[in-house]
Amino acid sequence: MHELGICDAILKTVDGLVKEEELTCVHKVTLEVGMLSGAMPNFLMDCWQAVIDGTPYADTELAIETINGIVRCEDCGHEFSADLERLYCPKCVSRRLTPLTGTDLTIKEIEAD
Ligand SMILES: [Zn+2]
Repeated sequence: MHELGICDAILKTVDGLVKEEELTCVHKVTLEVGMLSGAMPNFLMDCWQAVIDGTPYADTELAIETINGIVRCEDCGHEFSADLERLYCPKCVSRRLTPLTGTDLTIKEIEAD
């Protein structure tokens, strides 16, 4: 499952940072999830619980902030907020779209001591 791999990668990143910075406790990880990244915030939450279970990060909270997916229509130039369920231009119904934002999934912030 896609989301499980993502959460596993996040946990490895956090773990690497903890060792590097000699942190003792990670309270919260804030993740920015683009609406066009293909990752579902709900699944990410569930997978996070699964990957942290039984690790030193079992109490670490995952916060998700979604980023709107803005795309530009290559046929009429219209820019609009899209999601993966409706990938066509509302003005001309073209599917030739170029994503401008919302395709990334990044760790925004890690709250730790
Ligand atoms: Zn268009």
